[in-house]
Formats: sequence, structure tokens, C-alpha cells
Amino acid sequence: MTIFAKILSGEIPCHRVYEDAHVLAFLDIGPVSDGHLLVIPKEAKAHLHELSDDSAAAIGRVLPRLARAVMAATGATAYNILQNNGAAAHQAVMHVHFHIIPKLASAGLGVGWNAGKLDGARAQELVASMQAAMNR
Ligand code: 5GP
Repeated sequence: MTIFAKILSGEIPCHRVYEDAHVLAFLDIGPVSDGHLLVIPKEAKAHLHELSDDSAAAIGRVLPRLARAVMAATGATAYNILQNNGAAAHQAVMHVHFHIIPKLASAGLGVGWNAGKLDGARAQELVASMQAAMNR
């Protein structure tokens, strides 16, 4: 059982900002910046690609509204949405969660971005492979 399952069941307290039938949003206990919010599905899945369409839609529906609430509460005019999948991608809690991290003058998410260059042949392979996967 993950720590977020315990938060959902009420076994562990949280600073709850929003809740509906599918989604819970609460303050991160270790904020990267003031107002750092976590948005989780009630569905107990570790990774985004495992989520049901209903959970995914419910999160997508409320994320912009929660981002506006974070901005209103902190005065931030910029923010990052971060969603880690897998320990190698820095996921520590194996229950799907979206971070909303305000970018404030003093704090926010640091992003490493090692951009390469898209190769044309590889792009064609990738498109074909992804489209086939989408149609399965
Ligand atoms: P991850 O690295 O998995 O994307 O991020 C997990 C996040 O969960 C971290 O930002 C961490 O601070 C937060 N977190 C871990 N345990 C708790 C907890 O018990 N309560 C709250 N509110 N946040 C937690």
C-alpha cells in the first residue's frame, strides 16, 4: 500500500485542496516551492499509462482549475506540471500523481533539457510504431 493510498483512505492526514469522485488534490509535504500541489486519481495505479480513461479524463478536467488556484494563492505567473513514471524517472511514490509547482522568483522546478536533433528516418519509424500502438 502506498503512502497516497493511506492518504486516500484517511489513515494519514493531508492538507486537502480539492476532492471529487475520481480525484484528490493536496499540498506536497516537501514543497519545491510555496503552493506545490499534488493531484492524484483515486484509482490505485502506479503509472500514468495504466490509468483508466475515466480517471485520466477526471484529472485532465480539473488540472487547469487547480493550476489557476495555485496561481491565485501564490501570485505565481508561471508553473510546471511534473508527472514522473518509474523509479528511473524519479518517481518515489508508486501511485500516479501530478505535481503543480509554481515558479517563483526564489524557487521552483529546475529542468535539465538535453535537446538533440530529430532524425527524419527515425521520425518516420516512430510515427508508424506509435500509430500502430494507438490503434491496438
Ligand atoms: P515523486 O518523486 O514520486 O514524483 O514525488 C512524490 C512526492 O510526494 C514528493 O514531492 C513528496 O514530497 C511527496 N510526498 C511523499 N510523502 C508524502 C506525504 O505523506 N504527504 C504529502 N502531502 N506528500 C508526500
